[in-house]
Amino acid sequence: MGLVATEPGSENGPSTDSIEHQQILEQRREELEERLNGYRQQLANPERQKVSMGDTAIDGGTISDIQLQNSITSDQLALNQVNIALKKSEDGTYGVCEDCDEPIPQDRLDAQPDARYCVYCLTAREKNGGDPPTTLV
Ligand SMILES: [Zn+2]
Repeated sequence: MGLVATEPGSENGPSTDSIEHQQILEQRREELEERLNGYRQQLANPERQKVSMGDTAIDGGTISDIQLQNSITSDQLALNQVNIALKKSEDGTYGVCEDCDEPIPQDRLDAQPDARYCVYCLTAREKNGGDPPTTLV
């Protein structure tokens, strides 16, 4: 198992789908990096810190450190996912479930180009607190 991948660029390319997904992922990576830079700049901005000193007196448009940190954390996680997916498309394992080695359905990848697991394995992981499920007895 696992030798399903075709050389990219060989014989007119197997399908354009994964290339499209890769473009979406690269675009998303740029967006996320840009946004993360913006958040970090805001966090380092002394004017903003002055505003958040007066506890709840936060002007419209200014968000608190906690909100910023949360945004950074979630964007960082999203960026990691995107990077993993891009790495996989380089390796030729893109679109294959990491747990069961089955291909992830196209419509799932369309909805979530950085999906790492098929729906079945994802559900199993969620039930197992994010870890790969132990062998079913
Ligand atoms: Zn799976």
